[in-house]
Amino acid sequence: GVTDERVEDWLYALRHMDTLAIEHEGQPVSYRELAERVASRAAFLAELGVTRGERVAVLMAHGLLFAITLHALRYLGAVTVPINARLSLEEMVWQVDDVEARTLLCDEAHEVQRIAICERLSHVRAWRCAVEMKEGKRAFAPDSICLSDVQSIIYTSGTTGRPKGALLTYGNHFASAVASALRLGMLPTDRWLTALPLFHVGGQAVLMRSIIYGTAAVLQDRFDEAAHRARLLQGDITMVSVVAATLLRMMDDEVTFPAALRVVLLGGGPAPAPLLKRCIARGVPVVQTYGLTEANSQVATLRPAEVSSRVGSAGQPLMSSTVRIVDERGEYCPPNGVGEIQIKGPTLCAGYWQEKKVRSALAEDGWFHTGDIGYLDEEGYLYVLDRRKDLIVSGGENVYPAEVEAVLLTHPSVAEAAVVGRDDATYGQVPVAVLAVHAPYDEAALLSFCRAQLAGYKVPKQLLVVDRLPRNAAGKLLKREMRLWF
Ligand code: ATP
Repeated sequence: GVTDERVEDWLYALRHMDTLAIEHEGQPVSYRELAERVASRAAFLAELGVTRGERVAVLMAHGLLFAITLHALRYLGAVTVPINARLSLEEMVWQVDDVEARTLLCDEAHEVQRIAICERLSHVRAWRCAVEMKEGKRAFAPDSICLSDVQSIIYTSGTTGRPKGALLTYGNHFASAVASALRLGMLPTDRWLTALPLFHVGGQAVLMRSIIYGTAAVLQDRFDEAAHRARLLQGDITMVSVVAATLLRMMDDEVTFPAALRVVLLGGGPAPAPLLKRCIARGVPVVQTYGLTEANSQVATLRPAEVSSRVGSAGQPLMSSTVRIVDERGEYCPPNGVGEIQIKGPTLCAGYWQEKKVRSALAEDGWFHTGDIGYLDEEGYLYVLDRRKDLIVSGGENVYPAEVEAVLLTHPSVAEAAVVGRDDATYGQVPVAVLAVHAPYDEAALLSFCRAQLAGYKVPKQLLVVDRLPRNAAGKLLKREMRLWF
């Protein structure tokens, strides 16, 4: 699908516009100013020796600095490799090494990691960057964009194993931006707040879409629900990307979300039905989406008007994606038939970095096997049930942890829930749950609550209460870790 067609650089094309490009911690940056900063930063990085095609690791929590760096590296034709700022030092070293980066760019907040990574990887040149640097105003005009060129390598969150570096091209961004606008609508006055980190595919997609649309991205440095909510309540935000855990905490009190807010795009994992219903009852325009790193974020997304009639669905596939459901024998499933979700289309990444080291899920026929289980209904609406690797087979019956978790989460004592399989001599596996709870908590009452709503084989056979559930740097439940507790 992706062509070698060339187009003028998206940001460079907007360099004479005085409209808002980025609002960072309350500070407005116009397209004219952003393009100037990016051009001089590109000239500066070129002097440091950054070259075309080079993979540059970027470790920054500072939103504006991240955006300037990402675009400056694009201007140079270098490949951005965002390093998840929440990773442990070991994981960071592994990623910088795995991607064979010679250059690492950090913000001031990651000085400790910068020094430690250099100690471990002596061939890596690491630079500390700031928004303001003594680089002067230099005219640097980027080449046109080749749609098949790789813009970034984003590592998957590693929920199921070692993270894999997905090669995202400009063509992926273009297809994804157009398809997203066709589904959600796009207004020149849109302001998209990212309550997702920018090093995540969903965060980077907001930055890339904004320069394709010429609209504004609103960035905050902290991953802080209170700060996100405060910014949302100022009234001018029209779109926001969130994951369920963030939205849950944003919804905690009785605030009224502003009328200008058109879309609360909820992705990254299963959306508990009680949360969706609460949002709908309070008029929060929550829109579920199914997406993944390898597809440069959204694959299917609900239309805002369908929110209350299709609770639980991730919507129809975007025009950039074709979705099919395939059962264990490799046969296509009829409507409502459950199987693996496979996808195809121009947002699919060009492959994985070091393809030979990681087993490639990008099949030769172009279909990507997501490892997620779900179904399409008669009208082509996608329902995502769970990951295949998380599926629990108990006495021959399938237990989808997400379904059990959704029931647990409707109980007022339950704050967080994760269901995993425990080996069992009789049934092969049985479901067990890890919970974070609010007082008062009564285990027997919770289990009878579950029994009233779930078939017996789905009811957790053991409940383990902890303070906080382990999540990876993307906020996803670390089931691999929790399985070891039983
Ligand atoms: P890894 O592939 O390394 O294990 P990961 O699967 O978490 O990590 P991401 O690309 O960050 O990698 O996340 C994509 C996954 O998130 C999807 O494959 C799916 O399992 C889950 N997901 C995304 N959206 C939804 C949704 N609407 N409902 C259920 N699950 C979802």
